[in-house]
Amino acid sequence: MGKSEGWEIPAAEAVRVTPDTRVGDLDTNGTPGFAGGKSLGEKLLEERGAVLSDLQEKLFAHGRATNEHRSVLLVLQGMDTAGKGGVVRHVIGHVDPQGVDHASFGVPTPEEKRHHYLWRIRKALPRHGQLGVFDRSHYEDVLVVRVHDLVPRSEWEPRYDEINAFEKELVDSGTTVVKVAMFVSLDEQKARLAERLERRDKYWKYNPNDVTERGYWPQYQEAYQAMLDRTSTEHAPWHVVPCDRKWYSRLVVTELLIDALERLDLDWPAATFDVETEKRRLADS
Ligand code: AMP
Ligand code: MG
Repeated sequence: MGKSEGWEIPAAEAVRVTPDTRVGDLDTNGTPGFAGGKSLGEKLLEERGAVLSDLQEKLFAHGRATNEHRSVLLVLQGMDTAGKGGVVRHVIGHVDPQGVDHASFGVPTPEEKRHHYLWRIRKALPRHGQLGVFDRSHYEDVLVVRVHDLVPRSEWEPRYDEINAFEKELVDSGTTVVKVAMFVSLDEQKARLAERLERRDKYWKYNPNDVTERGYWPQYQEAYQAMLDRTSTEHAPWHVVPCDRKWYSRLVVTELLIDALERLDLDWPAATFDVETEKRRLADS
């Protein structure tokens, strides 16, 4: 992908995980690769959102015109308040809702618990021509599950390899998987939770358990590190996005999706009718 305005390094390169990525050392307030500040970032978010919208429409049109499976799946993982919902609203919000397959994953329901952990994930995969968005994902099964020993280690440990194989299968069948790990600092999370307690319109987002989970921050960092180390693959690499500045995280995700869609290199479907004939028929009608 080329560089676009404001970027010193293409976004996808700037935030791609490396073997040296250390969750504990991340500057969550940083803006890797981006040279501008908030005002440029917010302006670009709108401009690039329009580009994203056109590309998504091409994917949708391609889906209507062919049977060759193509879809894009955005996987959002992050602690509470990292801004997953904001990405859905402010990034995915730029595209036509009929082209989006959105799913969020909470504590498994009794029915989900009776199945393999990938069961609910498979059911929610994007259909042909769709942009899928996972707000949380199968990675919860090696994050919250690992931190709280919800199943024994002997059960969660093999999941890393299993997830890699699962994603390989997706990619081989025509789904581009864009994985975004979103990181806020412990302080920024506190400020965002505090805001939820100050505003009547934010109470619904507040969950007393989020404060409990803050006590497990080191364990979560360890689990996120293991996730990045073990499931960032050639076919589905992780991107590590600092999220203390919301405008930056939203802009990066926009760029990652644009990059993924551009790499599909889709064209508008050709007419399945004779255009000139149809123009004449229409004129005469
Ligand atoms: P929210 O995204 O704020 O609605 O919260 C969803 C909650 O569901 C989070 O606390 C997640 O950790 C939890 N959750 C998601 N997937 C799982 C899972 N597989 N097992 C246990 N908890 C989960
Ligand atoms: Mg929550």
